[in-house]
Amino acid sequence: MTTEISLAITSAADTPRDVRWEELASCSTVDPELFFPDNTRESAEAVEVCMGCPVRQQCLEWAMERGENHFGVIGGLTAKERRALGRGKGPGRKAGEAAAICQEARADILRWREEEMPMEQIARRLGVAAKTVRVALEKFALESKLGQQDMGAAA
Ligand code: SF4
Repeated sequence: MTTEISLAITSAADTPRDVRWEELASCSTVDPELFFPDNTRESAEAVEVCMGCPVRQQCLEWAMERGENHFGVIGGLTAKERRALGRGKGPGRKAGEAAAICQEARADILRWREEEMPMEQIARRLGVAAKTVRVALEKFALESKLGQQDMGAAA
């Protein structure tokens, strides 16, 4: 994570120095995979780490400012919770929003499928239904086919 936010803390020698908040992150000593959970139990483990993190507020602000709301646990919130926070309301999403999330994550979805990640796992990462991911993949395939036809016609 990169950010302009920094904290002034006192070193062991009592000499003030600027420390980037990431240096104080509790997750820096934990397996990063924990923060990209496949299920609720794993999410809870990551959230627990965040709840004991001294820079949770800075981390969450960083994520919200940048719209980092598609994957993983950040700042103690799941991607779904961060999206809800960004909308200023509780969980629950219209179909159009879920489709927009898939569209925005197009490159990631295609890469995950290349890596043979199951559809359900992709859906969980994005916080959308597996059916939505399936429909998005069909759309991507169609767009790719149409793009190839256009290139063929132009040649
Ligand atoms: S709040 Fe969580 S994700 Fe953010 S820095 Fe701390 S441990 Fe890492």
